[in-house]
Amino acid sequence: MPKKYHINAKATPLDLDYVFKYKIVRGENCINCGKCTKVCIYEAHKRQEDDPRKMADPNTIVCRNCFRCIQECPRGALEKSIEKDFANIGGTFWKPDMLISLWKQAEDGNVPVSGAGYRGPFTGPGFDGMWTDMSEIVRPTRDGIHGREYINTGVELGRKLNHLAFDAEGKLTSKVPATVDIPIPILFDIPIINLSPNIKEALIKAAIEIKTLILMPVVEIMPGFEKYNNNIIPCAKPEEIDRYTDILKKARLIAVEYSDGSVSDFSDLLQKIKRINQVPAIIRVPAVINVENIVAAMAGYGAEIIQIVADYRGQEITGTNSGNGRLLKDIIRAVHLKLVEDRIRDEITIVTSGGIAMAEHVPKAMLCGADLTAIDLPLLVALGVRIYEEPEKLLVFPEGLEKIPSSILTQRMVNLMGAWHSQMLEMMGAMGIREARRLRGESGRAIFFEDIDKDTFGKLFRKQEEVR
Ligand code: SF4
Ligand code: SF4
Repeated sequence: MPKKYHINAKATPLDLDYVFKYKIVRGENCINCGKCTKVCIYEAHKRQEDDPRKMADPNTIVCRNCFRCIQECPRGALEKSIEKDFANIGGTFWKPDMLISLWKQAEDGNVPVSGAGYRGPFTGPGFDGMWTDMSEIVRPTRDGIHGREYINTGVELGRKLNHLAFDAEGKLTSKVPATVDIPIPILFDIPIINLSPNIKEALIKAAIEIKTLILMPVVEIMPGFEKYNNNIIPCAKPEEIDRYTDILKKARLIAVEYSDGSVSDFSDLLQKIKRINQVPAIIRVPAVINVENIVAAMAGYGAEIIQIVADYRGQEITGTNSGNGRLLKDIIRAVHLKLVEDRIRDEITIVTSGGIAMAEHVPKAMLCGADLTAIDLPLLVALGVRIYEEPEKLLVFPEGLEKIPSSILTQRMVNLMGAWHSQMLEMMGAMGIREARRLRGESGRAIFFEDIDKDTFGKLFRKQEEVR
């Protein structure tokens, strides 16, 4: 059995403010009796380390809103109020609860418990309208998933052969293309340019720690980053290739932005890249309206890995702000089905990015047909960055973040990935799938709300319309 992949999470609080739904405040009439320390099982109330006679400020992050401490305080000294900014953060896709959940996962790598049972809606746009078939959850696997049982989350990047060819003497004549293995189906994508050096370094070190790779624009690769060559995928625009040949030559994987939408000169571009470095190349294409046809044409020209980049809310890039484009779930399904139809699906690796915001989005994207995902904004949320969608996309960095040592920032991103990996194991265990590679395109193991809705009520409404 291969060595088990494990992500080492450890509690790493960030001493910066974040927005929570509620805030607990301890009033001046507190008599430091310590009763709240006993009633809160989440340890939101503690005594001050340097003076145990006094109570420390309540830790709102771990609070689960049970109100017990408020009821039990003999002096009525505790108060819980709604944070004013809570309703303003995020938007229709990056919901405030989602951001807080990511922040909490980055604190210690644990999966936050939101109470008994699922209280959310069972449908919604995009991945929210998709459920996974957890029929294997009845088996006694709980100990197994994190203990004896081996669940492999590893994936491979590169072109694969459709079949092997042998000569008359049985000698392999096919040239097997190089591939790169990573133990988790997640690449890091550098979220925005001009990040402070401590954040940039933390992103790279977190990628190294969890044994994945980070896509980084060539212009962002600073002198001194050579030591990280094994984990950085330099990403160049076609017009930058000649200028950054030295960087591209040394990489284990390279990436090229290909946003012009035409594939007529794609073959020449691919040859040019291969003359510089024979390693697998990722071609990044925006998730435009006919992306499935573009991807299929590129696959036909010999592309090895294609990254489909949706916008930050997982929507098709339509060139307008209408929000009427397809969502990531439908984009990936369309690409996968087109490649299956063209009988080339098994040869190519599909990475998807944009709108991968929660742990569950990774296996869901794979069930829709992606081989793996790339993430960006969740890594910044782990560092306390607030996302606002309205009136337009805005990222607010917490004051003082640029002075936090990169080791703390690294560990928070590692914690986040630890929590995501644990959730993937839970999901795969419950689905009875032991290999992440087997998730790809297994849409039969997923239930899509729109399909059920149509099957259940479609006929009924059709009949009513016929009567009219
Ligand atoms: S129970 Fe009330 S009075 Fe006692 S320490 Fe807690 S807040 Fe203070
Ligand atoms: S409300 Fe409940 S969870 Fe929150 S601090 Fe009080 S006792 Fe702890």
